[in-house]
Amino acid sequence: MPAARVGVLALQGAFALHVRALARLGVDAVEVRTPAELAGVDALVLPGGESTTMSKLLESQQLFEPLAERLAGGMPALGTCAGMILLSREVLDGRADQRSFGAIDIAVRRNAFGRQVDSFEADLQVVGLPEAPVHAVFIRAPIVEEVGEGVEILAQVEGGRPVACRQGPVVVTSFHPELSPDLRVHELFLRELAA
Ligand code: GLN
Repeated sequence: MPAARVGVLALQGAFALHVRALARLGVDAVEVRTPAELAGVDALVLPGGESTTMSKLLESQQLFEPLAERLAGGMPALGTCAGMILLSREVLDGRADQRSFGAIDIAVRRNAFGRQVDSFEADLQVVGLPEAPVHAVFIRAPIVEEVGEGVEILAQVEGGRPVACRQGPVVVTSFHPELSPDLRVHELFLRELAA
């Protein structure tokens, strides 16, 4: 079987660092900005950035519907921070016109850690990565407030709030794994493609 072609949604936000992280893992990722580029990939990373802006750009670039279809068809996806918001079923504290794909059965609250802790770092125990905790960087991060039955919680912050989840081939994190030299979250996602 030929290797999976991995795309990174490149409309806005931290896409370049995901491309670099994937390259370090030997994956030649493609930047996706058009429906044609989307059609050429087998899996997609949705980066951090600003979910309201990305939602708008997805519509203006005619990408929202084709991407919704691919996700409904079971395309593997990794969503980090704003990418997690876009993949979720419900967005709390979103903008009225903000859309999400419902590719994972979670409700997320935007900017949930409040102003005083806009950004913070934490060492997280992640299911499937038992060797050592993952050092996670959170930037105006969303939190997962509701988790549907088919969703596996992969990591939680102190107090038990979920910050990484998986449902089938869709993996999401509140934090930015592409900002860390530790690429095990990307590896965990790439394992989905091999499966
Ligand atoms: N607060 C941003 C949003 O709502 C997400 C922040 C991020 O991706 N680092 O889209």
